[in-house]
Amino acid sequence: MEIWLEKKDCTGCGVCMNICPKNAIEMIEDDCGFKYPHINKEKCINCGLCKKTCPIVEKAINERFNEPKVFAGWSKNKETRYTSTSGGIFTELAKQFIEKDGFVVGASYNKENLVEHKIVTNLEDLNDLKQSKYLQSDTKFVYKETKEYLNLGKPIAFCGSPCQIAGLYKYLKKDYDNLLTIEFICRGMNSPKAYKAWISEIEKKENKKIKKVWFKYKTNGWKASPKCTRIDFEDSSFKVYNGKDNLYMSGYLGPNLYIRRSCGDCHFNSLPRQADITLADFWGINKDLDDDKGTSLILINSKKGMDYFNNIKDNITCEERDINEIYKGNVCFNKSVKINKKSEEFLINLNDNNFSTMVVKYSKVPFKDKVYNTLRKVKNKCVRIYEKKK
Ligand SMILES: Cc1cc2nc3c(=O)[nH]c(=O)nc-3n(C[C@H](O)[C@H](O)[C@H](O)COP(=O)(O)OP(=O)(O)OC[C@H]3O[C@@H](n4cnc5c(N)ncnc54)[C@H](O)[C@@H]3O)c2cc1C
Repeated sequence: MEIWLEKKDCTGCGVCMNICPKNAIEMIEDDCGFKYPHINKEKCINCGLCKKTCPIVEKAINERFNEPKVFAGWSKNKETRYTSTSGGIFTELAKQFIEKDGFVVGASYNKENLVEHKIVTNLEDLNDLKQSKYLQSDTKFVYKETKEYLNLGKPIAFCGSPCQIAGLYKYLKKDYDNLLTIEFICRGMNSPKAYKAWISEIEKKENKKIKKVWFKYKTNGWKASPKCTRIDFEDSSFKVYNGKDNLYMSGYLGPNLYIRRSCGDCHFNSLPRQADITLADFWGINKDLDDDKGTSLILINSKKGMDYFNNIKDNITCEERDINEIYKGNVCFNKSVKINKKSEEFLINLNDNNFSTMVVKYSKVPFKDKVYNTLRKVKNKCVRIYEKKK
């Protein structure tokens, strides 16, 4: 049965599946590898709860600062900082929940190396949530489970993309004192189908099984990390894919080849933000706060967010910054990415073609676009020089 949304708007947050009182909704993968809700007509009682709870139809209203407080910072724990995507602030925030006998919810790899949300209850398992995984996470029934624990009074930190946080609040119908939400500035969610094609190609070539994918590996520094991925194999060896050899991140960061359609018009990337705290990389931060080991951008969006942030101040190095500093380095703070026009064709054609060959083929920039881009860069440079001289 058709869903109420156009496909281009559905983020796949999965809240409708969680809220359905008759279990009539299932999230099913389409030809491009993204999950969408499907309604079983036999089970559906037309209660309308799925539509009412959809964060695209209507957002939940929470008290959020219109002008968030902005900090640049990192964890003082060197290991945490090195093994985290940015400055390790997520782990520092999350640790206080485990220490208070609470739970942390976030995205983790499963046995097939795909990503799904799970609830962790101890410091060892918290490591599974650490690090960005650049593909869409399957939220399964995590909103339902989170609500059950919140109602039991458990302190919970829930981390996800802005659309997942928006979904969580619609599901909960209210804010809870024992809940802290953490989101990140999101460039867009990649198709698990593209990621699966990439890792299975590596497994075939290397003739061994992958144990873990470590995106944004900082061996060459934080600024070089977006295109540096470490793959750990089950035989304890590892391989680093860097720069042009890192075809998965090349297809994501440049041509936006496998990003979900709804991310091209994100409904959740404006102020006020969705979560109590927003994390990101502080790209473009001045040299004093950039030792190339990872500097987090921390946006405090609510009083509760400020309280939890104050609790970790002894464990981090941080400095308050101006909100205008975000825009120059982090375009996705308030803008959606432009999805590649051939994205759907690429993902469908993956069925019969090799991932690497396809990424190289679809990433080629036509000559006229190359000329246009160069002219645009020269023009922007001239404008900057002119404005500096003025
Ligand atoms: C798909 C994606 C796109 C991003 N785009 C940008 C960007 O454009 N600009 C920018 O500055 N930062 C971006 N980030 C955020 C950045 O990579 C870091 O996650 C953030 O700065 C927090 O870093 P950290 O060192 O504090 O914690 P980390 O240890 O990196 O914590 C990561 C947290 O994010 C959660 N998470 C990881 N992967 C996923 C996933 N696939 N779905 C949902 N939750 C997930 C984990 O559960 C964990 O809670 C993106 C992250 C993701 C996952």
